[in-house]
Amino acid sequence: MARIRISNVEKDYGNLTVLKDCNIDIAHGEFVVLVGPSGSGKTTLLRMIAGLETISRGDMMFDDLWVNNVDVGDRNIAMVFQNYGLYPHMTVYDNMAFGLRRRRLSKAEIDGKVRRIATLLSLDGLLGRRPRQLSGGQRQRVALGRAIIRDPEVFLLDEPLSNLDAQLRVQMRSEIMNVHRSVDATAVYVTHDQVEAMTMGDRIAVMNQGRIQQIGTPEDLYDRPRNLFVATFIGTPS
Ligand code: ADP
Repeated sequence: MARIRISNVEKDYGNLTVLKDCNIDIAHGEFVVLVGPSGSGKTTLLRMIAGLETISRGDMMFDDLWVNNVDVGDRNIAMVFQNYGLYPHMTVYDNMAFGLRRRRLSKAEIDGKVRRIATLLSLDGLLGRRPRQLSGGQRQRVALGRAIIRDPEVFLLDEPLSNLDAQLRVQMRSEIMNVHRSVDATAVYVTHDQVEAMTMGDRIAVMNQGRIQQIGTPEDLYDRPRNLFVATFIGTPS
């Protein structure tokens, strides 16, 4: 059964159709990357999965539930953005604990969870700091920690590494993949960087001009590109 099923989904902004006939089935536990040039519709599709954009035509299912009009709060998902979205006035500890606010957990339970996630992301020594006292990579880890701590079934990540320098980006790619493995969640990851897509994705959806050009494993895309766009895009390092 598909964890997320996107069937014939389209999106209009005014007269402009920015997503056309999008179809993807994402399995439980899969790490799917949406990759394509700027303006190809990646963020719009991700935001539709998140419930932050309406669906103009087509259907979206989570497991077997039709979610086109389901409230965002009722989807067990967490989003991570490139600008981190941390609260500047709160410590690292409180930024992470904040994600648990809606749960009825004891102080000790919250403390246990924050410390476990901090260890997973090498943030142990930084729990008392505020975001401005952290490096870009550390902030990104806090943003990840805040997402993970809620035990979401689905992670949506929109260019989460694009503010980091090249070396840190490479390191954070493997950290994200390790975290994904250890929490048993489904992930949809947006990037314009084909190297990032090819290293991280179990499967990759290559997008251009609002259409999914091809979905496949890295090997599929390298060995059997369906059209010239996919061949050129995947073959060209950024
Ligand atoms: P990507 O993430 O691949 O860069 P986007 O999903 O952000 O692409 O954008 C796809 C297209 O939709 C672009 O042409 C963009 O200008 C347009 N678009 C995105 N959001 C809006 C909006 N709120 N109103 C009008 N057009 C939008």
